[in-house]
Amino acid sequence: MEIEVVEGDITQQDVDAVVNAANRRMRGGGGVDGAIHAAGGPEILADCVRRFPQGLATGDAGWTTAGLMPARWVIHVVGPNRNAGETDRSLLTSCYRRALEVADGLGARSIAFPLVSAGVYGWPKEDAVDAALETLRATPTSVELARMVAFGRPAYELIAARLG
Ligand code: ADP
Repeated sequence: MEIEVVEGDITQQDVDAVVNAANRRMRGGGGVDGAIHAAGGPEILADCVRRFPQGLATGDAGWTTAGLMPARWVIHVVGPNRNAGETDRSLLTSCYRRALEVADGLGARSIAFPLVSAGVYGWPKEDAVDAALETLRATPTSVELARMVAFGRPAYELIAARLG
């Protein structure tokens, strides 16, 4: 699998699946979650309610339609909320591994990721990047392209440096 980084907005990515940094309730939120629901429209929330009546556990992933976005699917993951005491790093790497498993189940060949947990959930950005890259590199998958979408120039520089 090729891993690349672009600077931009994940809602605009022309890939099979975009990953959402969601929360356990799976009913929308702020940050990238809010941007994805706003861009994809109400079909995403309707699908979340239908498919995830109990929400999702931290570290897990599940898919919905991408609604009006160019992608076909949203793969929602729930990163650990470090600010709420979820400090177990395996919960973060699990998000990337489970997202690729869900992508394989869908037959997705290209997938775009935000930096899960690196916003409101307070994971240190450097380690959020390393957790993403090491897990994407180590997980066997039929996905051919993983695109890290950096929101802003500083995030781009950080990911590009660590991608090597
Ligand atoms: P979390 O609650 O998992 O920390 P956030 O949405 O607060 O999720 O932040 C996760 C990452 O997503 C942050 O690095 C933030 O800068 C980034 N982000 C926010 N909006 C977008 C967007 N439209 N496209 C890509 N990344 C985004």
